[in-house]
Amino acid sequence: MPHDHHHHDDDHHDHDHSVLPSDPALRVKALETVLTQKGLIDPAALDAIIDTYQNRIGPQNGARVVARAWSDPAFRARLLADATEVVAEMGLYGRQGEHIVAVENTPDTHNIVVCTLCSCYPWPLLGIPPGWYKSDAYRARAVREPRAVLAEFGVTLAEGQAVRVWDSTAELRYLVIPMRPEGSEGMDEDALMALVTRDSMIGTGLARAPT
Ligand code: FE
Repeated sequence: MPHDHHHHDDDHHDHDHSVLPSDPALRVKALETVLTQKGLIDPAALDAIIDTYQNRIGPQNGARVVARAWSDPAFRARLLADATEVVAEMGLYGRQGEHIVAVENTPDTHNIVVCTLCSCYPWPLLGIPPGWYKSDAYRARAVREPRAVLAEFGVTLAEGQAVRVWDSTAELRYLVIPMRPEGSEGMDEDALMALVTRDSMIGTGLARAPT
């Protein structure tokens, strides 16, 4: 699949969806049954794929990258220079994340990630995108009025802190390195990981303060 943006062509067909059963789980189960009966899919292979996306691919991967960047200046420098290579070394290369760029929040600059065309997102690092990330409102407003969007997520930027909005594509996806919270000095990587939220790596949140 060379490009992810084809599904925009379908926007005018939304009305067709109303005639289908409303419960997505029911529809998925029905599809799975039909495809299995026809011998087109192997339920064991399907279980393995679902296990991957439910249990092994998720924001904990990105959190590990961020915690290491906070802990290890040499790693951080390499991550900012070539994130794709660094995350591949960590075994985090995969579909929907072939080219990753890490962008770092600083006291001067806050970064926020969007895909204005659809929903491109760094799956191997953050898992499946949340619903709001794919919404028309977020995609349009993150670019037009990022500060208002951030405020709605509960993020108030410091006076004079600039906002940079990064527009993802199928070819290029972004990971925000949030600022390391005050009070986290001396915490090890595992403890730091717990401070790194999914939203902080999209830029719609900040890292948690240690309790
Ligand atoms: Fe997209």
